[in-house]
Amino acid sequence: MNAMTYTAKAADIYGDVLHECVACRAKKIGYWRKKSFHYTHSASHKAFHIYRCGNCGTAFLNRPPALQWLQTIYQYSGQALTQTVTLKEVLTKEIEFPNCTVDAERISQLASRLSRTSNGYALDVGSGFGFCTQALRRLGYRTLSINPGQYENKVFKKLNGYEPLAMTFEDYQTNGKFGVVVMSQVLEHLLEPDQAIKKVSGLLSPGGVFACAVPNYSSFLVKLLGTKDNACLWVPEHVNYFTESGLRALVERHDFHIVKVQQITRIPFNAVSKRLGLEGRTAVIVDGLVKNLQRPFAGLMNLLGLGIYINLYAVKQQSA
Ligand SMILES: [Zn+2]
Repeated sequence: MNAMTYTAKAADIYGDVLHECVACRAKKIGYWRKKSFHYTHSASHKAFHIYRCGNCGTAFLNRPPALQWLQTIYQYSGQALTQTVTLKEVLTKEIEFPNCTVDAERISQLASRLSRTSNGYALDVGSGFGFCTQALRRLGYRTLSINPGQYENKVFKKLNGYEPLAMTFEDYQTNGKFGVVVMSQVLEHLLEPDQAIKKVSGLLSPGGVFACAVPNYSSFLVKLLGTKDNACLWVPEHVNYFTESGLRALVERHDFHIVKVQQITRIPFNAVSKRLGLEGRTAVIVDGLVKNLQRPFAGLMNLLGLGIYINLYAVKQQSA
């Protein structure tokens, strides 16, 4: 990995130019498209260039945003919250459209099942509202959670009864080892994913599991919407846009054996009617159609490698 030093002043927007793929390290990278955005807290429009790797297909912002700028965003939220939110509001949304809770349950249970160590400590990196931590605790794990966003951490405390460490993963230091490390919707935010995975590898006991979820750059949404997509290509918070091949290359480089990869596609049942501006009976009919067609459609997309999210599970190898 090329040296990325961030000597930017607080006002600086961009980091250093990247010369290789953030996932597979191939030098064969080229300009793909530009994406302008209007950031919530700023009146000015900024443009970012998205580069794509000719080897693994992973894309990334180049130049990336400056670290300090990203950190000023993340101290409040990693999910674009512009103000505090209550646990009740979060849970109401989850009841309407079960999303975070479903992912947290699946990821935690699979990670636990695939683990080959008796180490009962789990690390939840970028713990958000705390659903993964909650699911891991239900499985009997003792948990440590890290999350810089104070808006999310308030909800987390209500849910789990303690505060996560309010810091970025880059700043976290320990001599401890974990049996499970979960990174759900985190790796796409990190400026140096290679360093992050190396760190995760060092934090796991041999036989421990790394569970990771990222948006899929090869998803049908990105293919249909191009740079209008804001789920994967959410600038500037998302700096890396992984393909399955890129994510595999990145993880395998750091003493991991990948044991399971799956794609996940879930569409809020009212997304289509909202987008088309439908109301009343028509909206109800369309919502019903989306609900019923969701399962076969999602299955097909995942099968074709066009699913919205990639979930990857890898076991830490015995060191030689
Ligand atoms: Zn690559």
